[in-house]
Amino acid sequence: MPGNTVNLGQNNAFYRMKKNIFLPLLLLALTLVQCSKDDPITEPTPDFKAPNLLATGASANDILANDTYSDMVIEAVYNPGFRPTAAAVSEFVSFLEERTFKTDISVVYREIPSEGVETYSIQEAADLEEDVRTLYNEDDTIAIYIYFSDAASEGDDPQNELVTLGASYRNTSMIIYEKTIKSLAAQSSEITEADIESATLMHEFGHLFGLVDLGTPQVNQHQDLLAPNHCDVDDCLMQAEIQFGGGMMGMLQSLSAKGSPAPALDAECILDLQANGGK
Ligand SMILES: [Zn+2]
Ligand SMILES: [Zn+2]
Repeated sequence: MPGNTVNLGQNNAFYRMKKNIFLPLLLLALTLVQCSKDDPITEPTPDFKAPNLLATGASANDILANDTYSDMVIEAVYNPGFRPTAAAVSEFVSFLEERTFKTDISVVYREIPSEGVETYSIQEAADLEEDVRTLYNEDDTIAIYIYFSDAASEGDDPQNELVTLGASYRNTSMIIYEKTIKSLAAQSSEITEADIESATLMHEFGHLFGLVDLGTPQVNQHQDLLAPNHCDVDDCLMQAEIQFGGGMMGMLQSLSAKGSPAPALDAECILDLQANGGK
């Protein structure tokens, strides 16, 4: 009410008195409003979730070895029309079997409604996970959560082929920008959606494995000095370029020209995994 402000200077005492009476009432009202709101951020995190809320790479040894967890379950959540191809998931699971000592690796799929947004940030992905993730580490089983999104990464620059294909943002969580993968695949006659999906899944999982120097120490120095936590060996799956559209397509094209089917970990990355409990 703009009219009232004129009197404030003249009736300072009255104003102060009014303030003294109304401030506690106001605070009480605010408290009531806040408590009645269903705000997940203010709720304490249940204990059973805590081991799955660590930093990327923090569970590398638990994922690679079978001392604590002999089995792995992957909760694959996707928006309608964005379920990953069976071929990509099969190649991805073979990769996990090849590098870890897990005796059983299973994938559980679940469709969730679209958020109806064009882009998705890591924070939004983490908030969504809070609502939709159902599997957490239990007994002998370590749980991984992967969201196949119908949105693109925030900050993408498609004109310069700087589009992000995936991101691992916690020790057992990642987002795959499935919409971006589909549109890249649509531009190529030789490279399929499954090729890009499996390479993206394996690269992002490489970070959950703790590569490079992200929870799994390096045996020999091979970290890309310009791109932390990535590998400097040519054609290695953990090269930084691969997480962007242009780099991914470039690498897949050059590998296919060499007759090599898919990007793989180089000897240095494998050595690191073996030294941290992997195969
Ligand atoms: Zn990466
Ligand atoms: Zn490497």
